Amino acid sequence: MSDTIFAKIIDRQIPADIVYEDDLCLAFNDINPQAPVHILLIPKKPIAKLVDSETADQDMLGHLMLKAAVIARDQGVGEAFRLVVNNGAEAGQEVFHLHLHILGGRSFNWPPG
Ligand code: AMP
Repeated sequence: MSDTIFAKIIDRQIPADIVYEDDLCLAFNDINPQAPVHILLIPKKPIAKLVDSETADQDMLGHLMLKAAVIARDQGVGEAFRLVVNNGAEAGQEVFHLHLHILGGRSFNWPPG
């Protein structure tokens, strides 16, 4: 778990285009953007999947949601953006360190597919 690519970004072992950081979380541009704005927001705590989070993580998870909105606003997409959490490989998760995708700058379809 601690050797995921996102853990290495937190530890500055590999570079990333960081747009926000505080004690609990880090946000950086996705290397393969699916929208004009595509930011990944990750907790510094190494939780593999959302389903692995615990009651003790409640404040941190709330913090991520609030910061996602702030980051979306700061990136100019505060009025229309999408948050995505892929939980598990079948849902599309490739990096097993919990992350929120913040997507904006284009229109999105529903259902998401
Ligand atoms: P997921 O499929 O939900 O696990 O999303 C993983 C995301 O991480 C994908 O959108 C990738 O493009 C992105 N990603 C993988 N490696 C990096 C990296 N080194 N820097 C930024 N984004 C990355």
